[in-house]
Amino acid sequence: MVLSEWSSCPQCLMCCNYTDMKRVLEAEPLCPICDKQVSPMAVVISSNPEGEFKALCELLKDSGPAKDEQN
Ligand SMILES: [Zn+2]
Repeated sequence: MVLSEWSSCPQCLMCCNYTDMKRVLEAEPLCPICDKQVSPMAVVISSNPEGEFKALCELLKDSGPAKDEQN
């Protein structure tokens, strides 16, 4: 995953690599993550990859089991 290729599925909003996602969708227009129909044209490179990456990190941190918080 590189920030210049940061993209996301328009259906499930799961982040993905733009080039890989396009390649998959051009072969079959189904998101490999959510199995919904996604046009290759609907996948776009994020205009704010760093912001989205940070938001994703926050999301994972908040929703994950808070094991390390006590110690
Ligand atoms: Zn999806």
